[in-house]
Amino acid sequence: MLTAREIRSSFIEFFKDRDHTFVPSAPIVPHGDETLLFTNAGMNQFKDIFVGLTAPQWPRAVNSQKCLRVSGKHNDLEEVGKDTYHHTFFEMLGNWSFGDYFKAEAIEWAWELFTKVWGIPADQLWASVFAGDEKDGLPKDEEAAALWTKVTPIPAERVLGFGKKDNFWEMGDTGPCGPCSEIHIDLGPEACDMKGVAGHQCAVNGDCARFIELWNLVFIQYNRQASGQLVPLAAHGVDTGAGLERIVAVLQNKGSNYDTDLFMPIINRTSELTGREYTAQLGNKTDNAFRVVADHIRTLVFAITDGATPSNEGRGYVIRRILRRASRFGRELDMHEPFLHKLIPTVLDVLGDAFGEIRERADHVSTVVEAEEASFGRTLDRGLEIFRGAAQRAGETAEKTIPGDDAFQLYDTYGFPLDLTQLMAQERGLAVDTGQFEKLMEEQRERARAAKKSDALLANLTDSELPTTGDASKYDSDSCESAIVGWIDPEGFKKQGHVPADTEVGLILDRTCFYAEAGGQVGDCGVIAGDEGEFSVATAARIANCVIHRGKLAKGTLAAGQSVRAVVSKDRNATKKNHTATHLLQWALQEVLGKSVTQQGSYVGPDYLRFDFTYPKAPTKDELREVERLVREKIMSDLPVTWTVMPKEEAQKLGAMALFGEKYGDEVRVVAVGVGGVDALDDAFSREFCGGTHVDQLGSIGGFKIAREESISAGVRRITAMTGMGLMAQLEEASDIVDQLTALLQVPTDKLPERVSQLMDDNKKLAKQLKTASKTGGPDTLAEARGLLEGCEKVGDSSIVVGPLASTSIERAREAVDMLKKKAGSAAVVVGLEDDGKAVLLAGVTDDLVKRGVKAGDVIKAIAPIVGGGGGGRPQMAQAGGKDPAKLGEALEKAKETIKAKLGAS
Ligand code: ATP
Ligand code: MG
Repeated sequence: MLTAREIRSSFIEFFKDRDHTFVPSAPIVPHGDETLLFTNAGMNQFKDIFVGLTAPQWPRAVNSQKCLRVSGKHNDLEEVGKDTYHHTFFEMLGNWSFGDYFKAEAIEWAWELFTKVWGIPADQLWASVFAGDEKDGLPKDEEAAALWTKVTPIPAERVLGFGKKDNFWEMGDTGPCGPCSEIHIDLGPEACDMKGVAGHQCAVNGDCARFIELWNLVFIQYNRQASGQLVPLAAHGVDTGAGLERIVAVLQNKGSNYDTDLFMPIINRTSELTGREYTAQLGNKTDNAFRVVADHIRTLVFAITDGATPSNEGRGYVIRRILRRASRFGRELDMHEPFLHKLIPTVLDVLGDAFGEIRERADHVSTVVEAEEASFGRTLDRGLEIFRGAAQRAGETAEKTIPGDDAFQLYDTYGFPLDLTQLMAQERGLAVDTGQFEKLMEEQRERARAAKKSDALLANLTDSELPTTGDASKYDSDSCESAIVGWIDPEGFKKQGHVPADTEVGLILDRTCFYAEAGGQVGDCGVIAGDEGEFSVATAARIANCVIHRGKLAKGTLAAGQSVRAVVSKDRNATKKNHTATHLLQWALQEVLGKSVTQQGSYVGPDYLRFDFTYPKAPTKDELREVERLVREKIMSDLPVTWTVMPKEEAQKLGAMALFGEKYGDEVRVVAVGVGGVDALDDAFSREFCGGTHVDQLGSIGGFKIAREESISAGVRRITAMTGMGLMAQLEEASDIVDQLTALLQVPTDKLPERVSQLMDDNKKLAKQLKTASKTGGPDTLAEARGLLEGCEKVGDSSIVVGPLASTSIERAREAVDMLKKKAGSAAVVVGLEDDGKAVLLAGVTDDLVKRGVKAGDVIKAIAPIVGGGGGGRPQMAQAGGKDPAKLGEALEKAKETIKAKLGAS
């Protein structure tokens, strides 16, 4: 029996033998593509090739792409665990033609691999073709239908036509697309998981587990515009996707993907941890939990490895929901403490060879998963409480239904999937108003859509027609001569006429020195001036190889074809300083905190820089100070900064730092700090893959200071820092404040902290005194005490001062006792008072009397029981409390007797 690993590589080898180049999987988090939360198909990384924006490096390619289907157009989350063949994370095997072969080869090879190489019985296989779509004006794919029976032995009755939903493949709302042909397998009537469901009939695309789609062959012919329009593409391509997990199940003769060697190790480990048994039944609550947990932990490992972190928005929110879901299903297995992170080593065992990155980032992933699950544990208990409340209210109504808004709150805030709320409701004989729930869900989706509202300027852009802008001069000049090629406005790309006034447009030049936003560095702003007019550029952005100068006509007129001069704003200099400083910061962080520091994101603008990095805990003050010191030392050394373009392998060999999970081309730009010539790259102390603009000499950065260090999520820290003039301005402001303070407080600068802390202490003391004074209502305790001393009994030269005090604070009473001891010189003092309805007794004895055997602690011990309490203390000072203030007089009488007895007087 083939292992999953062997199956993956035999797919790749099969196509390598047919002149395909192996291309590694793109990250599951598509960093540069805002239209997509997660990579959901093999095609994502090749999108620009299909629409003609970038030239293919190879005519044919083969890959195994990490895919996530948890959001947007492709979302299989709710199927997970309930069926045996939909996962959130899965691997999509694919072969690709970029303007090379087309339908015939794609069909023939797929058939050959399935039936000849892997030996899947041909009579179990079915094919589907696109049946056409009226709305899009698309005809039936007759070509593919004819090819199936021509190049494979499949009989015509097993080639079926389907509509757009099943057989027209689209990556998302926009992008390359086309008709597709799928191969489905018939696993026999016993495989059906919908037996007995009214109206169910097993069929291809019939939604039961008997017929399963294995491989989708997409014939890329169109580009879907944001407007919904389909634009035919110049070159045809082939994009295929075969789910590895499903193929492994077939080849390993398992009825379920979960029974294969891709999932069983994870399920077994879960079983070990939970002490529960997995019985591989569908519809069984425990088994379902096993499946969901196994599925979700794979997703978490891959998504967090590639740079997603749980948060409250976008990608982060999707990941947070997945984690919560997994954790909640863990409770079905009696796991009440964080346990998901304990499954990570098993995921590494299963998939770490094919995807080495998950091994590299395992510690970070584990920190994040554990912290997030622990924090959810606290939310979850609160959620269960909310559920109980909602269930109780529902139970008291005639409808016995939990309202949709309660279910929605549980879903949205506490991460309870609807099915779970329903299940728990069912256990109590209650229903859930799913109609209202759905309505609220739809409203939320609507809000999300509105928030994501597409960029109006680019709404009707056919990106395949955009020209390439020569922008090599952005690295060494701030101005250049150029010509206007055209502009983009909300109607699309225009190549003729005058640039419209009073509206935002994207001006396109044949060459530019503007830096287009990328790699965290903001796009340049500046001015583009012609003989008759001037255009003000707010920012520059890039679509494929075209630089778009976004802004407005500021003066006069400009027209396509005219010569212009492009001048970048001086802001660029500040941005350069911040960018080079970001490299220094990363280097210094690794020096101080170690190599586990890796970049998670950055912002480099003229105003400041921000650097996000993985690190499990807060760096200490000293560590941060050391980081600052190292960066400054480098700045003062004024070493040169150089860059060079070289083959990726060579750059990797040099140990140049790359953004984790980022896809780079074959040629990369490496920015090196600390060397003179390109040849001396080996001597650089910092080398990074980077396309940004940098200073020439470190000295011009002009200073560096960390403004803030904070946590942005579990395992991810953020440093905000400043350089150059921005830093100067901030320092000036701070120094102004110090000047004001020295003037106000009338002390030299170096005495400021001392003075302020003294003021704070005084303030505290005063506040306390004020509190005491208001509590006592102001009786003068000391005066009262002096009164006791005046009339007291004496034994020899020693005073026996015993008596009550009016209600006061204990501190005041103690002060009074001390005062009496001092004033009398030789004395045994006992006072009683009422504090907050309780009796308080205090005794104090001067040292000479202690020597004669009168001990405050003993006296207190003897009298405390009278007021219903206890206490004690040192021979010099003791205290007791009791619940019976009415007996204070009696206790004081007894005190007097005790003291006198000790002193031998009666
Ligand atoms: P289905 O109809 O079964 O959901 P699909 O039409 O959404 O599949 P495609 O978008 O064509 O699938 O993806 C190509 C291949 O990837 C499929 O043929 C299947 O083998 C696999 N695949 C798709 N979705 C999943 C998933 N959620 N889990 C595992 N494999 C999947
Ligand atoms: Mg699907």
